[in-house]
Amino acid sequence: MVKQRTLKSITRAVGVGIHSGQKVELTLRPAPADTGIVFRRVDLCPPVDIPVGVMSVSDTRMATTISPGGDPGGPKVQTIEHLLSACAGLGLDNLIIDINADEVPVLDGSAASFVFLLQSAGIVMQDAPKRFLRVKKPVEVRQGEGKKLMWAKLEPHHGYTLSFEIEFDNPAVAATGSQFVFDMGSGTYKKEIARARTFGMTADIDLMRSRGLTLGGSMDNAIVVDDYKVLNADGLRYDDEFVKHKILDAIGDMQVAGMPLLAAYTSFKGGHALNNKLLRALLADPAAYEVVTFDDERAAPKGFAELAPAW
Ligand SMILES: [Zn+2]
Repeated sequence: MVKQRTLKSITRAVGVGIHSGQKVELTLRPAPADTGIVFRRVDLCPPVDIPVGVMSVSDTRMATTISPGGDPGGPKVQTIEHLLSACAGLGLDNLIIDINADEVPVLDGSAASFVFLLQSAGIVMQDAPKRFLRVKKPVEVRQGEGKKLMWAKLEPHHGYTLSFEIEFDNPAVAATGSQFVFDMGSGTYKKEIARARTFGMTADIDLMRSRGLTLGGSMDNAIVVDDYKVLNADGLRYDDEFVKHKILDAIGDMQVAGMPLLAAYTSFKGGHALNNKLLRALLADPAAYEVVTFDDERAAPKGFAELAPAW
């Protein structure tokens, strides 16, 4: 049987939120089978549980934000995508995440610190079948037209692949690889994807700061590019770090479904909003998906049953 997974022990992290600039403490705890991933706002009295789910997503403008029932006026947790990406990369199903503020700390702007944290705590198999969301027919969402067109789609696939293409009107970004395809069954998430950092253009950063956003952002937790070059002294971690970060984000945004997909995901210039729209479109059509488990590991896609160090 392909089994569910949780942490072996409790682990903690402290950092700042990239948008709020606030100091945040996280405590990640093992959880029983079938719990899913649940954020618990322990700074509220009484504490409020916010289970990760497609309908819990309440804002996708800067990052992926969840609230109970998706109520934008309710208690929230922002910027969940990098932590969820790390959970997906390590195949974690069940976790309680205590958080004492409304934003997940950005740490180094990638998922690498979360992967390190989760792997240090250890990962254990649980005696319950792991569930997968199998896509049965193609689902596609689009936004904008002409130069502003972006789209994302899911197609049936015995496995889980993510393909992304970016197109930025910026020479520094355009000089890097604009397309990448990643296979989740390859066992290379930690090496190929997890270290890719979030990024921003200096002009956008100035504008966002004036609106009170990205207050915690700096070259310690983001790639910063001006019109012509990457400003970080150490340069890029991957030649194609920008598009790889978009895949890292997409893995996190798709993990909002509460279980890994069995699908081929493809996106052209998409982001958090389109990713959530795609999952909502999938779940709106009961004929487009089914939840499956694998009693026989040999029936699962290659690489899905092993507890590989990087996934
Ligand atoms: Zn991101």
